[in-house]
Amino acid sequence: MRIAFIGLGHMGGPMALNLHKAGLAVQAFDLNPDSCAALQAQGLEMAASAQAAVAGAEVVISMLPASAHVEALYLGRGGQPGLLAHIGAGALVIDSSTIAAASSQKVAQAAQAAGIAFIDAPVSGGVGGAVAGTLTFMVGASAPNLERARPVLEKMGANIFHAGEVGAGQTAKICNNMLLAILMIGTSEAMALGVAHGLDPQVLAEIMRRSSGGNWALEKYNPYPGVHENAPASKGYSGGFGTDLMLKDLGLAQESALATRASTPLGGLARALYAAHSLAGHGGEDFSSVIKLVQGHD
Ligand code: NAD
Repeated sequence: MRIAFIGLGHMGGPMALNLHKAGLAVQAFDLNPDSCAALQAQGLEMAASAQAAVAGAEVVISMLPASAHVEALYLGRGGQPGLLAHIGAGALVIDSSTIAAASSQKVAQAAQAAGIAFIDAPVSGGVGGAVAGTLTFMVGASAPNLERARPVLEKMGANIFHAGEVGAGQTAKICNNMLLAILMIGTSEAMALGVAHGLDPQVLAEIMRRSSGGNWALEKYNPYPGVHENAPASKGYSGGFGTDLMLKDLGLAQESALATRASTPLGGLARALYAAHSLAGHGGEDFSSVIKLVQGHD
């Protein structure tokens, strides 16, 4: 099967590598030449452009930062045609970026008009899950389109959920990430409080992990440096899920809350705290660096 993979950042790079390792013929592309060179050195085949990557592809996968990138890629920008004009009729597009559900639906409609199937399949599991091939996919698609995508998704993930029609995967993802942000801020507060009272961070983390406060951050992604050797906190808050990406997701959650008059007070507060953290210069660091906000460190 010929696959085009566009967007080889923290997540897309390891996801594309897993498809390549599974024996699929992947043509990959990213605007950042450094990412391309690093992955090429690991055996991934690079295309000269996104247009070249999708030529003859049966499946096109994208893993881009935000709605604007996905809409510009597929629909075009400034009078330039988008990638839909270059993808063959009958192909399947899987967008795994976290974007607005309305953007997924807009691109899906344009794709359908060109005879191309489009599904949203945002992921959870972090860079660790992308590397290990254990991501959770939250899919918005018709049932037949999901079945078409399943053999490809299974090479990158361990859990595949059908959230509903196109856009529903994004809604599920936004709910999850709003909860994750709240949990990360809460975990940061609890860790900082205990350490301020002289507790050993490792001991405190283990107590809470096995108690009623246990959550994903305490399991795998502790914001306190040195608790989890492989977590971004132990690597200078690099290499994970950027603060600005989390801020984007919290903005999407608030937009969808406004649209349905849902009450999300902690989600709103989490967005405000991440915005302050980003404005203080931490936008490019991993989102677990929000602990600095409650510790008062730079
Ligand atoms: P990233 O910034 O590391 O990677 C995005 C990549 O897209 C960059 O390499 C960039 O050069 C490339 N890109 C942008 N526009 C492009 C274009 N037009 N053509 C080709 N390449 C282009 O981001 P990431 O951490 O990999 O996240 C990607 C998406 O996955 C985001 O929507 C994010 O919210 C979501 N996500 C991230 C994580 C995580 O832990 N990092 C987890 C779950 C979901």
